[in-house]
Amino acid sequence: LPIVAVVPAAGVGSRMRSAFPKQYLTIAGKTILEHSIAALLCHAAVARVIVSISPDDGYFNDLPLANDPRIQVVFGGAQRADSVFAGLKAATDAEWVLVHDAARPCLHQEDLSQLLALRHTSRVGGILAAPVRDTMKRAEAGDGCAIAHTVDREALWHALTPQFFPRELLMMCLERALNEGANVTDEASALEYCGYHPLLVSGRSDNIKVTRPEDFALAEFYLSQRT
Ligand code: C5P
Repeated sequence: LPIVAVVPAAGVGSRMRSAFPKQYLTIAGKTILEHSIAALLCHAAVARVIVSISPDDGYFNDLPLANDPRIQVVFGGAQRADSVFAGLKAATDAEWVLVHDAARPCLHQEDLSQLLALRHTSRVGGILAAPVRDTMKRAEAGDGCAIAHTVDREALWHALTPQFFPRELLMMCLERALNEGANVTDEASALEYCGYHPLLVSGRSDNIKVTRPEDFALAEFYLSQRT
């Protein structure tokens, strides 16, 4: 059975302070969204990509890849999880699914391969993640400026994407988490909410999400280092 990737791209990118959504900013002649999708389609194991866009999106259909037969478009929803769920519904032929942020253009093939290998060793799946390097502080409740205590960073990871799960399991967990109003900011948190323990696959820390203006220059630099 093929592996299908879902790319939620229905966000508005308000933190970028740009005229249009961050995934449509251009780096080296291609939009960030196109870089993110290309990194997935480059891998021999990935058959198709389903892109979840906003019903108000005025940009996607002008991209050259809008005519690629391996790419399908669906309409996303109010929250990231709604957009992902809409994509998963369309991935009817997939046993395992990848979910990858539209705004992560710097994904490396080796990391993707490591993650995809989980389908041979796990029944739950997992995510790319990077170990935390800074010392981590928890703020006091209230004004949030005073330190309550230091959190042990040995056990802390940054959750990245792609995230990779059996399709039916992910859909079941997302549906329940959404129905019960759980706070799901990534796919793994929906599984955690339902009592599962997805695996952490250590990935490169240059797999950044372009969120703030300063991230854009960094992504541009990382992509320029490729051969
Ligand atoms: O806002 P944030 O950076 O967390 O968004 C992560 C990803 O989820 C982005 O690719 C964004 O386009 C997508 N998203 C979505 N639907 C929403 C909100 C975010 O597809 N309603």
